[in-house]
Amino acid sequence: MTTYINVNNPEEVNLFRKHNIIRINSFKNVNITEKTIVLCDIDETILTFYPHDWLSIYNTNLKNFEPQVAYEKTNAEWSDIVSNNKPVMTDRNGFYDMIRRINQTGSLLLFVTARHFVYKDLAFKHFKDIGIEGYKYLIHFCNNKSKGDYIIKNIKTRGYKKIVFIDDLTENLVDVKTKLPFSCCYSFKFTPYIDEIIDIKL
Ligand SMILES: [Mg+2]
Repeated sequence: MTTYINVNNPEEVNLFRKHNIIRINSFKNVNITEKTIVLCDIDETILTFYPHDWLSIYNTNLKNFEPQVAYEKTNAEWSDIVSNNKPVMTDRNGFYDMIRRINQTGSLLLFVTARHFVYKDLAFKHFKDIGIEGYKYLIHFCNNKSKGDYIIKNIKTRGYKKIVFIDDLTENLVDVKTKLPFSCCYSFKFTPYIDEIIDIKL
């Protein structure tokens, strides 16, 4: 089982400092230089089922259940939400701004999601829902395993000068930064959730 760090936990701030993780709320703030490989998360990063998100549901369940039960209960609820709702894009303007800079610099975009490959068609549908269906073949499915390990084993980064990793979950960011120390890691927070973290100064 995975443990998640609450955004209100000051421990997260220390982790961000320690691992040099940059907090952003727009893809416009992702620095892309010549030959960058951009590895971008999907849920709560490119798209969201706002006001539902996995971490909030988990934190609510944690108040009433043991962590393992809360985790399983959250996954069941989450599965229901993503199967029966259409997502919205978190930052459409920022996304296309980033795409433009990726194209201008000979860079490459790939999506790296924790989602399981068996739900590929659902992920494709979600990309269609938000109007970016053309990007669906760029998705890598990590099957809930470590993203850092997945990237090292499955993604050819050779030939690229810089690795950028964008995710909303601190544990993924710390994992990737630890295993790929030269990567630039960005913590993406969808704007409506910013209120939760507004008093944290980095
Ligand atoms: Mg995510």
